[in-house]
Amino acid sequence: MEQVLQLDPRLMGGGVGFQDAEAEIVGNGLVDPLEDVNQLASVSSLGFWDGSKWYWSLDWKRALRPRDVEDLDHLLSIVGHVSLDVSSSDKFIWAPDKNGRFSVSSITKELDKTSPMVSSDIFKSLWKGLVPHRIDIFVWFALMGKLNTKGKLVRLSIIPPSEASCSFCKQHIEDEEHLFIHCELSRKLWYWWFALWDISWVLPRSLKDLFLQWNNCHADCFFKKVWKATFCIILWTLWKERNARVFSNIVCSDKQLQDMVLLRLCWWIKGWQDPFPYSSNEVMLNPKCLKGCLAAGRNVNPAPSHEIPLWSPPPQSSFKWNTDASLDPIRSRSAIGGVLRDSFGNFMCIFSCPIPHLEINSAEVYALFRAVKISLSSPLINSNHLIFESDSANAVKWCNERSGGPWNLNFMLNFIRSAIHSHLNAKIIHKGRGSNAVADALAKSGIRRENDFMAWL
Ligand SMILES: [Zn+2]
Repeated sequence: MEQVLQLDPRLMGGGVGFQDAEAEIVGNGLVDPLEDVNQLASVSSLGFWDGSKWYWSLDWKRALRPRDVEDLDHLLSIVGHVSLDVSSSDKFIWAPDKNGRFSVSSITKELDKTSPMVSSDIFKSLWKGLVPHRIDIFVWFALMGKLNTKGKLVRLSIIPPSEASCSFCKQHIEDEEHLFIHCELSRKLWYWWFALWDISWVLPRSLKDLFLQWNNCHADCFFKKVWKATFCIILWTLWKERNARVFSNIVCSDKQLQDMVLLRLCWWIKGWQDPFPYSSNEVMLNPKCLKGCLAAGRNVNPAPSHEIPLWSPPPQSSFKWNTDASLDPIRSRSAIGGVLRDSFGNFMCIFSCPIPHLEINSAEVYALFRAVKISLSSPLINSNHLIFESDSANAVKWCNERSGGPWNLNFMLNFIRSAIHSHLNAKIIHKGRGSNAVADALAKSGIRRENDFMAWL
């Protein structure tokens, strides 16, 4: 505030109060000597008129030190330029406002001069309503270095210096830069996010620089929102983790922190009014659906919503399988994946398995075959109506025909036909890839597996 109070002596004509002179003095770093005079004194009590000439006469409560004498010379050189009006009485003047009155707008402009970061354009990209307002405010505080980190609490003498170390690593002073960027735990969280999108990123020294870089995101409209929100969410997740460790002695793993970032993102995406077809479970299983999401294309390649093949839940008391296959022609590997969900979209079972190298339609049949086998093995599942959804039109056609299909698939096709017609209350339907993101991700991850993975959830 001291620097804000700089006044232009030319504005002081027509009467001047000591407060005005003080403001000028304080603004020039001359506050020490003045602490020894009555700061509420009027100008008229701090000097005298000799004819038409005004002389300053300042009394000090203590003897001035050599440094004070230098400051006093400086002070007198400043107030020496002030022209006093003998006919006017003292009054308050707030020079930064052209009307002489204090206003929020005027002090904001003054603050901008002393700290360009406070309200410069960089914050405009913060207040977008992508996360709850309290999180926006939290991030704003973090960017300004106003959070009560341990480093700050030590500076304020609230905690002893021995307690200043980072709540995560205990090896560095805890300030915003270390806590949110440079600590090992924080870096891992940022790099996990970058790795999701195959991005190489050198984290800058300061949080403000990271925020500036972050907002140079060139993506489509939906993913841009995801990207911007994630900056706030990562900061918030790290801060919550820090508080949980400090106050509750609860520690989350790296994976749990990553899941919390995605979970919060999914919660808050719901408030954006963008059509986002995936549940939080699906996003955590396959975060890439945040980018490939067809909601993203809404503003880029407008398409009628009825053409978008979104996943839809099965009717009540029914379960739905989505299956898919993936090939890696370079390594001659194939894999299948599948997910079973109930009418609320809850995951019930997932599998992700490497299989012998097959062409894609055959691999898709293999995926359906595996889902049928799992269903037959579970009374809970096979007592309900089942829907098998695949994005392979050929695989669905072969399964639904009484005969036909590639000869090498005869065993699997006959097994599926028999199960559908004799043992299960089920149907097999074809649906576009957009509805199959989870199964697709499971199939792709199966390429890297050595063994079958299956889980009941
Ligand atoms: Zn640390």
